[in-house]
Amino acid sequence: MRAGWRRTEERRDGLWTVQPVTAVRATKSYVCPGCSLEIAPKTPHLVAWRADGLMGEAADLAGRRHWHSHCWRIR
Ligand SMILES: [Zn+2]
Repeated sequence: MRAGWRRTEERRDGLWTVQPVTAVRATKSYVCPGCSLEIAPKTPHLVAWRADGLMGEAADLAGRRHWHSHCWRIR
């Protein structure tokens, strides 16, 4: 799969937009909501936010979260 490819995933709690973040673009550290551990800079990971628009697009974008790829998969 192409790096940086944005996709939509259907989950039990609705539709989510998932955007992979490559190591080069990961310049900050984040706290993963899945495991509460740090995602260190230069770690490939992904960003996810709701895609069903229930709260409005601005709220969806404001609710973006950075996840370890693994934690998102087992979420
Ligand atoms: Zn995690």
